[in-house]
Amino acid sequence: MNRNEAIQNKYVGKVYLVGAGPGDPGLFTLKGKTLIECADVVIYDALVSPEILAMINPQAEKIDAGKRKGRHSLLQEETTQLMIDKARDHAIVVRLKGGDPFVFGRGGEEMEELINAGVSVEVVPGITSGIAAPAYAGIPLTHRLYSSSVTFVTGHEAAGKYRPAVNWQAIAHGSETIVIYMGIHNLPYIIEELTKAGLSKQTPIALVRWGTRELQEELIGQLETIVEQVEETGFEAPAIVVIGAVVTMQAVLRNQGYRDANVQLVAEVSGGTSATT
Ligand code: SAH
Repeated sequence: MNRNEAIQNKYVGKVYLVGAGPGDPGLFTLKGKTLIECADVVIYDALVSPEILAMINPQAEKIDAGKRKGRHSLLQEETTQLMIDKARDHAIVVRLKGGDPFVFGRGGEEMEELINAGVSVEVVPGITSGIAAPAYAGIPLTHRLYSSSVTFVTGHEAAGKYRPAVNWQAIAHGSETIVIYMGIHNLPYIIEELTKAGLSKQTPIALVRWGTRELQEELIGQLETIVEQVEETGFEAPAIVVIGAVVTMQAVLRNQGYRDANVQLVAEVSGGTSATT
């Protein structure tokens, strides 16, 4: 359905679940940008960066879904109902989420409910923070020498639950690189589980906070040191945790000037030097 068809026929709006990426506006997709530029309503989350919010159609109704924290299950229901109501009155409703909507973003759950309510819905992927934050920190998630497998896991639901859903034992044995979302709060518990399962206490670990943004901060250590480092530095969420030998690549890549790679490449190209000649 295009915009004109939708406008002619009220009650047949469409919801787009759009991934805003990790923060750097240069990493936002062209499709996502086009959609927020012509949206009637944009319902956005707390982790969407201000630069991307600034691209929203000035005439659009903007709704901050992250503001009503503290009533989590109700909030989710309210947000879904809001999308359904708005889609019945408007042509283009964008649900804008940090990173990728289908990676720990409740995109699947929302899509299911919208479909059940008879609302047409489409997903627009975004670059997930679990890939982008390590990349901007100079950490490749796979490497032919160090890692041929990656696991993306949530650190949010482990502690205090009668039956934790995450099988840390299996993850410790089954994956060479472990990328944890929402892992800062439960880090001591997670590390205890991983080391109990046999992961060496000297395994390298990196925490990347506000990855790809100006505020990006990193903390590098080993499983046995990192909890103390977090306490000492007051390191806080939101951050991605990377565990595995690939973390040691950071030093190698940084020594080769990786940190300023983008700037250097642009300078080289405009200066007439080309790596391919
Ligand atoms: N759908 C999102 C993840 C939402 S869960 C995505 O694909 O990225 C929220 C968690 O994502 C945060 O607790 C943090 O662990 C991570 N996160 C999101 N944006 C981040 C960023 N810019 N830097 C580091 N971690 C980030």
